Amino acid sequence: MEYFPWWNEAQKKLAEDAKKITDEVLMPLAERSAWKKEYPWEAVKVMAKQGWFGAQIPKKYGGHAEEWGVTGAAIILEEAARAGELTIPLGPTMFGGVHQILHDGTEEQRQRLLPKIATGERMGAITMTEPYAGSDIAAIETTAVRDGDFYIVNGKKRFQTNIATAEVYMTYVKTSEKPEDRTKYRHLTALIIEKGMPGFSIEKVNELMGYDGAYNGYMNFTNCKVPVANRLSEEGEGWRVMMSGLNVERVLNAAPALGQIREAIRYALQHIQRRVQFRAPTGDIATNQFKVADMIWKLRMARLMTYYAAYCCDLKQDVPIEAAISKMFTVDEGMNIAVEAVQAMGGNGATRFYPVERILRDMKINQIAAGTSEVLRLLIYRMGTKAMQADLKVPQRIVDPELKVPMPVGKPLPKKKVSSEKDVLTVLAENYRVNPGLHMMMEDLKEFLDVSDADLNKHLLSLEKDNLAALYRDKKGAVAMARVTLVGLAKANPPEYYRYYPSWIGKKDIF
Ligand SMILES: Cc1cc2nc3c(=O)[nH]c(=O)nc-3n(C[C@H](O)[C@H](O)[C@H](O)COP(=O)(O)OP(=O)(O)OC[C@H]3O[C@@H](n4cnc5c(N)ncnc54)[C@H](O)[C@@H]3O)c2cc1C
Repeated sequence: MEYFPWWNEAQKKLAEDAKKITDEVLMPLAERSAWKKEYPWEAVKVMAKQGWFGAQIPKKYGGHAEEWGVTGAAIILEEAARAGELTIPLGPTMFGGVHQILHDGTEEQRQRLLPKIATGERMGAITMTEPYAGSDIAAIETTAVRDGDFYIVNGKKRFQTNIATAEVYMTYVKTSEKPEDRTKYRHLTALIIEKGMPGFSIEKVNELMGYDGAYNGYMNFTNCKVPVANRLSEEGEGWRVMMSGLNVERVLNAAPALGQIREAIRYALQHIQRRVQFRAPTGDIATNQFKVADMIWKLRMARLMTYYAAYCCDLKQDVPIEAAISKMFTVDEGMNIAVEAVQAMGGNGATRFYPVERILRDMKINQIAAGTSEVLRLLIYRMGTKAMQADLKVPQRIVDPELKVPMPVGKPLPKKKVSSEKDVLTVLAENYRVNPGLHMMMEDLKEFLDVSDADLNKHLLSLEKDNLAALYRDKKGAVAMARVTLVGLAKANPPEYYRYYPSWIGKKDIF
């Protein structure tokens, strides 16, 4: 595994050890489990002995957080994933509860739960999705009602990875039906539900297209008694607890895909270098070289993004955009890479005798589990445009008197004091020349005009009444944007004012 310059010595050593153990011990064990569709218990024991389950757990609770951290957890997952489904026991244990117990748990909860998770004796699962709440995860229906020192939990969860084998389930439940709590996202509570609690059972195990041998399925809670002592943070804080763990969860969902990509590349390369057709290796064909070149640059970009996000998590920086990009980019490009690796290998790629077809099946699931690529794009759009707001603001532009084309003004122009609606119409008409076809937002108009909100609104309504401006209203009915109408253009300036001909145009052709 290639290191990044910011990794500490312990992380570099971990990378070296993890690669060696994966190549020499885990690969044969895990490939056999995947073929037989068996849960990889043997491999779990090996990984537990290495202390891998405790990558993010502090030393005082038996883990290695101080030296490994989120970066170390990602290193382990990248390597282990090369062997197949080993990230199923590891991943949910790492992000299903550990982060939340550390940040929102009590000292009693940490001491009681973390040491056995660190040693791999008790594995974890993250329990959010329900039959009727998937991408819209705030719509959780499983309820928890307080009864003395217990919560009585009723409901169902589905698509939970590592069910049955896990003992610690980081579960989100609904504790308030009040509409005002729902609006403020204060309707959810985080509970640690443990295997063996009365009323908690496994309802169904899924037959998945991939993740061979991994347990994934539905869970049922019927009057399940959960001690209040198992609640993380306060009642109503569930959404915050859930969100606080998502960055780490996304980074740790990107990491396994990195290992799967590396495997796909190495099998594709082995193949094209050894397969001779038309009296030459298929690797001599430029299009096959391009396929591998694309795999390599995509892998390197994905690793850079993922380990950068992991490093930020270790520095306790909140990096929701980077975490989302690392998961989305790695699994989306991982899917493309798996498809191209199968293609480069021809018929062999389509057989189960190479791991590439399994990687392709798993990669498809990766695009759905832990937040779909579409939902991550939504998040990146929303949070990205907000975070870059200042950078993304287009500069003030006017039509340059000499060149007659829109130019940035540099330092903003002094605003014109508005004395009548004509001043507003002039700016709207000018915008027709600078931003043809676009409306102006209220803030755009106020960059040019010195006017109160109330007066601007009044002038715009008056222009609308006279058919000189057209207004766009938001969902609440408030005026949000405005543009000039054709009548308004004519009223503001003579027709020749709007003309522009490039110098190279034949003047005789213009009319
Ligand atoms: C193998 C596997 C393992 C999983 N492991 C776990 C686990 O351990 N714990 C857990 O809690 N959950 C787990 N999940 C659940 C997973 O997180 C959800 O499946 C996922 O969030 C999508 O929810 P859904 O399946 O209900 O799809 P839906 O939400 O019904 O979405 C269907 C489609 O519509 C798209 N879509 C939905 N809303 C929007 C929107 N607003 N804009 C654009 N597109 C949208 C989605 O991207 C998707 O393509 C797992 C799922 C799988 C398949």
